[in-house]
Amino acid sequence: MPAPTPLVAIVGRPNVGKSTLFNRLAGERISIVEDKPGITRDRIYSSAEWLDHKFRMIDTGGIEVGEEDEIVLRIREQAELALAEADVIIFLVDGQDGVTPQDQQVAQLLYRTRKPVILAVNKLDNPKMLQSVYDFYELGFGEPFGISSAHGVGLGDLLEEVFKHFPEDYDKDYAEDTIKVSLIGRPNVGKSSLVNAILGEERVMVSDIAGTTRDAVDTPFSREGQDFVLIDTAGMRKRGKVYENTERYSVMRAMSAIERSDVCVLVINAEEGIIEQDKRIVGYALEAGRAIIIVVNKWDVLEKDDKTAVVFEKTIRSEFPFMPWAPILFVSAVTKQRVHKILETVKTVAENHSMRIPTSTVNTIIEDAVTMVPPPTDKGRRMRVYYSTQVAVRPPSFAVFVNDPELMHFSYERYLENKLRDAFGFEGTPMKLFVRKRK
Ligand code: GDP
Ligand code: GDP
Repeated sequence: MPAPTPLVAIVGRPNVGKSTLFNRLAGERISIVEDKPGITRDRIYSSAEWLDHKFRMIDTGGIEVGEEDEIVLRIREQAELALAEADVIIFLVDGQDGVTPQDQQVAQLLYRTRKPVILAVNKLDNPKMLQSVYDFYELGFGEPFGISSAHGVGLGDLLEEVFKHFPEDYDKDYAEDTIKVSLIGRPNVGKSSLVNAILGEERVMVSDIAGTTRDAVDTPFSREGQDFVLIDTAGMRKRGKVYENTERYSVMRAMSAIERSDVCVLVINAEEGIIEQDKRIVGYALEAGRAIIIVVNKWDVLEKDDKTAVVFEKTIRSEFPFMPWAPILFVSAVTKQRVHKILETVKTVAENHSMRIPTSTVNTIIEDAVTMVPPPTDKGRRMRVYYSTQVAVRPPSFAVFVNDPELMHFSYERYLENKLRDAFGFEGTPMKLFVRKRK
């Protein structure tokens, strides 16, 4: 289960090695974001793991070397983001350069926070260079940690210090049967209006999370005996600060919400239709294996006839061909039209998302499918299917054991997936099929 794992931000002036450190800590588990399609590929958010500690990291942004004023502005923006969102801040400096005026400026910004700031002195590639950490005491953040991001030196000690400052309740999670829902979508599609409409409509009980000292970002409530929690509703309400209007920030926020959800409700604006950003956002949800519902909001604004919904649905299906299983709802947060359907659908898809199918049933479906359409052959060898079983939920994941996985075709895999879908529905949830060699 995704827990609200602590967030670590790396802050510092340009060229001290922030991206290098970020990549080093993130390893393979980086989410790549294209800020402007085809122009920059930027790492901004990653989950990481180190000696059993899970955490998330934000790369608060590479700073292009440009006008002096601009650099200062970007550093300020970055620091602001870190101060507001992170649990622990790593202040990174360049040990080969010594303390620079820009380091001093970053320090000034970081003095304002009560959050833990850990000073790391980078580029100390060999033990002799470690001497220079002492120069950095003057920045006023206590004992500096000497590291080399490029060579992976000193990172264990640094992280151990970081972990000491994680909030104690960080692995606190909601009860297993609570359905965690997030509304995702670009700004202004009506996410916050929908949240209000949902909560109002259902006359739900809204309560704060007991016993946390941090800002309550989630809204737990229950309806007809089912517990729900709306993930990151605070993120939707907050607005105004410079960094909060950046795309980087909204993407980071969305990814973090997706990570913690069971069900993601993609909200689309009926007036504006589907744009690239919608696909990108839902792409993260898919990648994370979340159940997905598409909600077309502001339905009240359109001039409609009896074909409008059908045409709109066709457009959605062709724009999102990779998820024909996602339910689509046409709603209005303003008139409340069909708003009550949202939670109903969330509940259904959450059930599908965590559905467990007995192995005997899975085998029957797969055996029938194999009898109906024989598996592919290659150079006279035919794939044999021995045995199938469900290996995981959220999303439902199946393993098919065969004589030789190399003989599997993409199209045959799709065929088997579709047979499982035909049998069990799985509306609203992605599913996974693993082809394994029988041992
Ligand atoms: P950022 O602008 O702070 O994100 O810095 P980068 O990660 O892009 O690194 C800036 C430069 O410093 C690059 O040329 C890196 O290869 C180099 N660099 C980063 N870490 C180290 C290190 O530990 N040792 C050395 N010698 N160079 C490093
Ligand atoms: P968010 O940025 O996605 O949270 O969007 P908001 O909930 O702040 O809504 C953005 C704007 O769209 C506001 O001016 C809302 O009043 C308006 N809006 C939201 N839902 C609807 C709707 O269903 N119909 C109409 N006509 N306007 C809506």
